Amino acid sequence: MMAKFEISLIRKNIRRLSPYIAGKPIEETKREFGLKEVIKLASNENPLGASPKAVAAIKKAAGGVNRYPDSSSFYLKRKLASVFKLEPENFVLGNGSDELIDVVIKTFVSEGESILTSEQTFLEYRIIAKVNNRKVITAALKDFKFDLAEMKKKITSRTKLVFIANPNNPTGTYVSKPELERFLKGLPENLIVVLDEAYDTFIDVKDYPRGVDYIKKENLIVLQTFSKAYGLSGLRLGTAICDKKLAAFMEKTRQPFNVNLLAQAGALAALDDKQFLKNTRKVTLQGKALLYRAFREMGLSYVPSVANFILVDVGKDCREVFRELLKLGVIVRDMKQYGLDNFVRVTIGTPRENFKFIKALKTVLFKKR
Ligand code: PMP
Repeated sequence: MMAKFEISLIRKNIRRLSPYIAGKPIEETKREFGLKEVIKLASNENPLGASPKAVAAIKKAAGGVNRYPDSSSFYLKRKLASVFKLEPENFVLGNGSDELIDVVIKTFVSEGESILTSEQTFLEYRIIAKVNNRKVITAALKDFKFDLAEMKKKITSRTKLVFIANPNNPTGTYVSKPELERFLKGLPENLIVVLDEAYDTFIDVKDYPRGVDYIKKENLIVLQTFSKAYGLSGLRLGTAICDKKLAAFMEKTRQPFNVNLLAQAGALAALDDKQFLKNTRKVTLQGKALLYRAFREMGLSYVPSVANFILVDVGKDCREVFRELLKLGVIVRDMKQYGLDNFVRVTIGTPRENFKFIKALKTVLFKKR
């Protein structure tokens, strides 16, 4: 049979799907622009690399990759349980928290039920919901923040899952403890709240609610990741933390070997490297202060962030600014896809990277070339 493409071959919900656009890779940028040095401040990765302890553990484990990984992630879950003072059964691990978003939707959202989240939040909630043919309802952000009061008004008998990114990507804002608690009060029983805490390590405010404090009382699932502060984006490891009964069903929908052998070894060691986390936090908070100052000097407004990135209003078409920065060897993320046409999101880098970015941004915005 000759292959003959017909759109009818494709499931209806996939036909008009907009795919996730990942941060542009360094190597690709070097090739395209003939550049020797390119810095990437586009995917909220750790600019310090990975914990040396994790790297050593990965190298040590590498010889064993002829075997399948431990499907139960026994040692890693046990370690996580001791870190969080919970039990191993409270954890479901995934190939990045991206996969856990899929697992959560597959496990809990039936046909006809819907997912509630916000506009201008992590796009994967919407994309993965669509792939699973589930309806997504959104509320607008208010002052770049999740508007939980508005979201609560949108809950109907069909709403099954609520995704709250706390802090939110791409805005860097957070919902406070009182705001979250007000939202949780009186929710329908047949509803699960997912708190996505991908950036929890960078928090520098006192009224941030730690999701794990709520999992015993609420139908609440916390998502965390080793991709950001732990510097293990390339390994792919995310964690869902929740009530054991919910976790047991998520265990049934995940792939059996979704957490690879190197990820298990690396994460286990990374959890012991407190010094690396401490340095990462320090460099991030210092870099944030530096970037704020530079934006103020340039007369640019930005959204105060509790994460490792900042959303900044560059006052002109963000695609153009993105492209001009690329030519100068700096990759950021333009916010066109989020409908924030004049904004870019920049990940806080090392001091050297931050200076390079500031210099390049000044050139792009203010210098006649
Ligand atoms: N949630 C949020 C809010 C994110 O920003 C990201 C990464 N961009 C993720 C989840 C996914 O992280 P990972 O799959 O690498 O764990």
